[in-house]
Amino acid sequence: MNLSNIRIGHGFDLHRLVENRKLILGGIEIPHRLGLLGHSDADCLLHALADSILGALALPDIGHHFPDNDPANQDLDSSMIIKKAVSLAKERGYRVGNVDLTIIAQQPKLGSYLPKMRENLSNLLDTPTDSIGLKATTHENIGSLGREEGIATHAVCLLIKG
Ligand code: MG
Repeated sequence: MNLSNIRIGHGFDLHRLVENRKLILGGIEIPHRLGLLGHSDADCLLHALADSILGALALPDIGHHFPDNDPANQDLDSSMIIKKAVSLAKERGYRVGNVDLTIIAQQPKLGSYLPKMRENLSNLLDTPTDSIGLKATTHENIGSLGREEGIATHAVCLLIKG
């Protein structure tokens, strides 16, 4: 493989957990007593993933493309953010090769939801599920994430030209 045809990207996002909000992660709703606070649907998994794609393209982050002071982005389905990032990659001749994501959530336990999230990510990225790494870990009860004050996600992706 010609290494000049691949680009790596990294993304991170964190949202606060509050009452009276839905918990949306990886584009699916997860039953929980708390949900993520944000201008959009606050899906920190999709936000981190979109930022990893934009980062690989050396483009500004999602706040540039979807400003949180724009009423049009109120309660936005974050799938739209992924679609935008993928289309910016395609315009430049890139497709998503593989991604790897780690969700940090003290609660709820996410293991049983990961297969459905992977399927959703596979569709959004137009990438096979065996190229979608998706893991969830707790924060070992340490610090703000360990106190269930928020949920965060780390993402890396590889874009391939052609
Ligand atoms: Mg965010």
